[in-house]
Formats: sequence, structure tokens, C-alpha cells
Amino acid sequence: MGTYHSTRGRTLSCSSKVAIRTGIAPDGGLFVSDELGTQQVDISSLADKSYFEIAQDVLGMLLNDYTAEEISACVDEAYRGTFASEEVTPLVKLDAAPGADAPQTYVMELFGGPTSAFKDVALQMLPRLMARTSAKDGGAERIMIVTATSGDTGKAALAGFADAPGTGITVFYPEGKVSRVQNLQMSTQEGDNVAVCGIRGNFDDAQSAVKRIFADKELAERLEAAGTVLSSANSINVGRLVPQVVYYFAAYAQLLRAGAIEAGDAVEFCVPTGNFGDILAGYYAKQMGLPVGKLVCASNENNVLTDFLTTGTYTAKREFFKTTSPSMDILVSSNLERLLYHVTGSDAEVAGFMQQLAATGSYTVRPETLAA
Ligand SMILES: *Cc1c(COP(=O)(O)O)cnc(C)c1O
Repeated sequence: MGTYHSTRGRTLSCSSKVAIRTGIAPDGGLFVSDELGTQQVDISSLADKSYFEIAQDVLGMLLNDYTAEEISACVDEAYRGTFASEEVTPLVKLDAAPGADAPQTYVMELFGGPTSAFKDVALQMLPRLMARTSAKDGGAERIMIVTATSGDTGKAALAGFADAPGTGITVFYPEGKVSRVQNLQMSTQEGDNVAVCGIRGNFDDAQSAVKRIFADKELAERLEAAGTVLSSANSINVGRLVPQVVYYFAAYAQLLRAGAIEAGDAVEFCVPTGNFGDILAGYYAKQMGLPVGKLVCASNENNVLTDFLTTGTYTAKREFFKTTSPSMDILVSSNLERLLYHVTGSDAEVAGFMQQLAATGSYTVRPETLAA
């Protein structure tokens, strides 16, 4: 997909390098491509492919202004020797359920990376993708990554970007709402280009503040004059999203190799969901030809997405619960905006929803949209 544009307006389009370097569209929307699904991954040959080969194919389709050599170097640097398993994201079979026809259940282990967060899978890749962009792809010589975290993203992003040339990173986390381990992981990060700030509020406050920083035109001008452009390491950055599409295909390849399925059989994925990045990557995989039955959106007590997917009304104005899964304690789930764009096909409609969300804390989609 060579051209990306905002979920809130189609007039300005850009390459995937520009989308990755700038992180968020100038109108506050997220970068999407209308070419999603025009190229299909060959399922029949998946079983013979390694994680690296699958990544090469999938990323090549999603980021087609990167050369094959660039993609291959990014994949190697991100995953060769940095993850505990050769498979990068190994599947582990759960004890067989009783009854011969009971569906088989596997767990995909995404925690084998350097910070033990599943987010390493994407955040080991994003800095490499960003390093292959240059000032001509977006404004200035230096990039400052500004990121909000509910706990895990912060450390994984700090580890990915630490001492990356031409890049600085600042992480904002809700003080008192991340675990002690996460707090220590972040505050002890080494590197000359890293900064960590606790804020008063919850993750949504941190994420909204980061979005306001991005939307501040005057700040952007001042930074540009100083030779710096802001970007994001949150899953609003398309370079954070696309590496996750790979492991849905890799899971399928492992099931084929294990003889658990045959090519073409549908597989269902149940995905613990917060900012809707992981499950959206599954939706992208499905659009790219992966035989996905259902994608099950799993929520914790902050079940804003479960409510939305059952009623069609998104209500961010509700009680916020602090849970034992802080990475899912999110009431404004950013990547849902991308799904709304792909399902409605209307930038104007999405812009309307986001305006209503900002103004009233709520919006309702049409019944056709909910059904889709
Ligand atoms: C980030 C995270 C999630 C939520 O993933 P999203 O892509 O934000 O939906 C769920 N569980 C864990 C452990 C996480 O780190």
C-alpha cells in the first residue's frame, strides 16, 4: 500500500514512510490506506515459510515504498536473536478439551522480546522502519517520539528507541496507575535520548494530552525551526500496527505445520484489547487473505469496546476502573477509528464521530455499520 491518508479526510495522501515518520495525520486522524486487501498473501505456501519470510511478504505489501532490502534489514535487526524463540511468536497448545470435536485451543506467546511485553513485537520494528525515513519524508532532521503509556508501551518504546540516531523519546505515564515493575523498568531505562514523565490522571488523560501536543500548530512551527519533528510510538502510528499483522499469518503457518488445520480452514483469534491495535492487525490480516473466522474482542472491566460492539454506541464517559491488566484500562480506544473508516468507507462520517466523541464523549454508528 503505497498511499496513506487520514481517516478524517482523503485530500492529502502520502507514502508509508511519511505516515510512519509523522505518526498522526495533520487533522488529528490516523493514517489508513484504501489499498488494504488489494494484494493477498498466498496461504498455500505459508507452511513452508519462516517468521522472517512471512514478515518480508506482509510488510512488503503494507509498506511498498520501502525496498525489499530495507524491509529485510528491518526484520533481521528487529527479530534475529532478540526474541526467545526462533518462531518469534510461538504457539503453545493448551490441554486438549474433552470431546473429540471440541475445538483445539492454542495460546500465542508474544512476550519473548527484550522487555517481556507483547509490544516488543511492534516496538522492535518501528524504530528500524523510522530509521529508513529521512528529512525529505517529513520536515526536519531530528525526530522526537512522544508517547503515552498505560504501562507496557513505555518500556518497550524506550528500549526500541534508546540511542537510535537522530531520534529522542519522551514517555508519559499515569502516576500511580502502572505496576511497580513497569515503573521501575521505565525509570531505569538507559540511553542519552530518553525521558520519562509521570502525569496526574489516567492513560486517557495522557493519550489526549499527547494528541493535543501533536495538534499544536504553533509548537510544530517552533520545533521545525529548531530542526525537530514530532512523531508517535503509540499504535496510532501505522509503523506500530503493521508489524503485528505478521504474527497472525505466522500463527496460521504454525497450525499448518502442526497438522492442526489444512490450508483454507478458518481460525478464530481471541484478543485482549485496549487501544484496539492488536485486534485491528488481525482484521488487516483477514483483509489480506488470512482465513479468519471470528476475531473475539476481549475486554476487562473497562468494557467500552464490548459495549460498542454489542450496541453500536461508543460511550467514553463512564467510570474508569483500575485493574490488574492496566494495558487494557483504556476508555478512548484509538485504533477503532481505523476500523470505522474501513467499515464505513467514509472519512466525513469518521470525522463526525470523532467530533462528537470530543464534544459529548459519545457517538452512535448506523445499524448497517454495526452489522458489518
Ligand atoms: C497493550 C496490551 C494490550 C492491549 O493491546 P492493544 O493493541 O492496545 O489493544 C493487552 N494486553 C497487554 C499485556 C498489553 O501490553
